[in-house]
Formats: sequence, structure tokens, C-alpha cells
Amino acid sequence: MKHFILVFSLILSVFASKAQNNDSIMSKKLFDDALNSNIAYRQLFELCSIAPGRLAGTPESEIAIDYMFELMKAMPFDTVYKQPCMVRKWIRGTEEEAWFTSDGNHKTKINIDALGGSVSTSEKGILAPVIVFSSIEDMQKANPASIKGKIVYFNRPMSQNYYMTFRAYGENASMRVYGADEASKFGALAVIVRSLNTATDTFPHTGIMRYKTSELRIPGFAISTFDADALDKAIANNSNLKIFLKCSCVEYAQLQSYNVIGEIKGSEFPNHFITVGGHLDSWYNSPGAHDDGGGCIQSVEVARLFFATGYQPRNTLRVVMFIDEEMEQRGARAYANSAIANDEKHIFALESDRGVTVPTGFSIDAPKNVVDKIESWKSYFEPYGVRVFEKGGSGVDIGFLKQAGVPLAGLVTESQRYFEFHHSANDTWQNVNRREMQLGSAAMALMIYLVDRYGLD
Ligand SMILES: [Zn+2]
Repeated sequence: MKHFILVFSLILSVFASKAQNNDSIMSKKLFDDALNSNIAYRQLFELCSIAPGRLAGTPESEIAIDYMFELMKAMPFDTVYKQPCMVRKWIRGTEEEAWFTSDGNHKTKINIDALGGSVSTSEKGILAPVIVFSSIEDMQKANPASIKGKIVYFNRPMSQNYYMTFRAYGENASMRVYGADEASKFGALAVIVRSLNTATDTFPHTGIMRYKTSELRIPGFAISTFDADALDKAIANNSNLKIFLKCSCVEYAQLQSYNVIGEIKGSEFPNHFITVGGHLDSWYNSPGAHDDGGGCIQSVEVARLFFATGYQPRNTLRVVMFIDEEMEQRGARAYANSAIANDEKHIFALESDRGVTVPTGFSIDAPKNVVDKIESWKSYFEPYGVRVFEKGGSGVDIGFLKQAGVPLAGLVTESQRYFEFHHSANDTWQNVNRREMQLGSAAMALMIYLVDRYGLD
């Protein structure tokens, strides 16, 4: 009996080390192929070139949907299809016009963009004095009479003090989202927000704004950090200066749009699903290379790497291009609702939506035993600089699967430069580095390979 146990455990350990060996070989294959390939980078260039400003509901988004659909159709997926959902159609209209004047004659032009979802100004535009606040709370403490009839300017730079720049973004985002809604209650005519950008440059950075409670809707704008500094100086010299703002945004009736989905059928568990994806829409002012064309292309690249290395997943892999993350997440909701309605078993979902810079790890939204299991695979990632496996948020789109108890993860990337690109015309494919993006693609493929092989239970 003793001998038998000894032999048995010997056989087991041989199997275990063989599996480990296979996984190391697979890891190297995935990274080698990704780092030597130009395919994904060229796809990103094409997507950003033919469909910049692909906000949900726009003609540009339809071009992007068709492009991804055809691209995936040309790959050996078992099936590629479009999943319908209704989306808002908000259009920025003609380019904004803005300037300030200290003396009523001389006009200094400023770079601004309308915030997403903003109402339009009148055709004449708005010319009014300005009042500056550093937060919504700061404004709420002010004498309402000092705000009425003015343009409220929320001027708080993003904190430079954190290593993770997302933290600074989180601290400031409420002024952009709710600033106009709150200021309208005090009789303000419009709101300008200093762009959420860690650099000083002339790119305005837009993003969603919301009208919650007020009847009276006023327009919202983002000003570039460079122009914000210039405006600060001018206000310091003359607090009576006036600002002119004009935009022509239009909200149309909702219309049908689509997620684009490609599936590789699982060889052993065709009814168990692993999702990998990014969001296809981008802001109207942006080619959307980092946010999130890159995440979409990386997700498609996961499938291409499996095809290239001959890996046949045991579970069904779904590559999902989510539509409408930036405004209402209608694509993500449709995907999760359908998964729940059809009682699908989802074993894992992964999203890339933090910019396609150098990958540093994964943020895992799952119980501790799942986080521990993923962490036990660390050694396969470490040679490629992917070292941090932590409990945390995953991605906005896959986040809707949380209600179904699905283990979720987000690719974490180096964030120092991200907010120089985010939601602006500066988010170009030229600002994506091929090797950095491909390290992320391979890390995602390796994560999905390991989950597919060993599960997360
Ligand atoms: Zn995004």
C-alpha cells in the first residue's frame, strides 16, 4: 500500500509539472506571437482612421460596427453576430465657439468642447460674466445672487499627487457630470469645467454630463488645461471679464444599435461562457484609440492568438464589442440581460478599458478564493512585467454581469499618460505603442487560457 501511494503521488506530480510545463510553453507562445505581430496595431489604425468620433447612435458608430463585424467574419470564429439594443442619439453639431473679453473689444479664443449630453445654447450664444468655484460644495456655500445670470467655471486641476491617476479623476469627475445640473438651480447660464487632464495642453476633454433634477437645463463645456490657465490669469486681472459660449448639440429620438460578438465554441463545455471585450464607442471629439478602440482590438487579438497557436478553448469564448459605454451603457445592459434571461452559465469575464499602455496586472472583482487562484498563476505573467493581482473593480461593461455572480477582471495598465489622451482629440493611434498594446493582448489571452483550462472554482 505504501508503495502504491508513493507511485501514485509520483505520477500525480509528474502530471502537475507536465501541465506547468505546457502552460509555460503556451505563455511564451502567446507573448512571442503577440510581440512579433503587426496585425492588431494595423486594425487599430484602421478603426481609428475610418471611424473616429464613433459615439453610439452616430453614423461613425455604424461604420465602426460594420468594420468590426467584417473583420471578425474574416476570422475563423464559429459565429459572428450583432446583438441589438436601443441607444441615445446625441450629436455635438457644429464646432463650439468660445472666447473671453476683458474690455468688450478684444476677444481671446479658448479651446472648449461641449460635454456629452449637453443642451445647446441659443443660436446667438451666451455672453456673460464668470464666477469661479473649486467644487460643487464650494458653489453651494456661495450667495445665490452672486451666481445668477453668470457662467459658472469649475476650476480645480486634477491632483498630481497620486501614483494611480484614476484616483485623481475620480475626485474631480462629479463637477463635469453634475456641475451644470447643480449650477442651474442657482440661475447660472452655463458651466465650464477645467478638463480632466494631467498635462497642460490645448486639448479639451469631454465626457458625460447628467441632468438629474432641474427643469431648467443649461449647457456644459470642458476647457483645455492650457486655456484654463490663460483664463485664470485674465480673471485675476479683471474679475468682470465676460465669456462667450456657443454650441449646437441636438438630442434625437433613440435608435437601434448593436454589440458585435464573435464566438469560438467550447470543445468540452459549449454552454459555459467566457467573455472578453472592450467598448466600441468613443467620444465625438476623439479617435478613441486608448479609450477604447485598443481594448476592442486586444479582445479580438485574444481570439487571433488562440487561432494562431492552435488553442481550442474548452468553454465557449465570446469576444464582445460593447456599444454605448460612454453615455448609457445600453450595449452592456443588453448583453447582461440576455445572459440572465437565457440562464447562461458565465464562468469569467475580462475587459480592457484603462488605456492600452504597459500592462501591470489585473484588478479582480470576485470572492477571495477566486483572487487567490488567479494569483497562483502569477509566475506565468511575471516575466512580462504583469505582476499585480488585486481585488478591485473590473470594467464598466462587464460590470453588469456582476448581478449574475460572474467573476470579473479588468486589465490594469500604467496610468501616468492615460488622462492626457482620455476623451480628447489627443487619443490617437499614434499615441498607442504597438509593443505596449500587444503585451496587454497576450496577458489577456494567457489569463483566459488559464481560466479556460483550470476554471475558477
Ligand atoms: Zn472607456
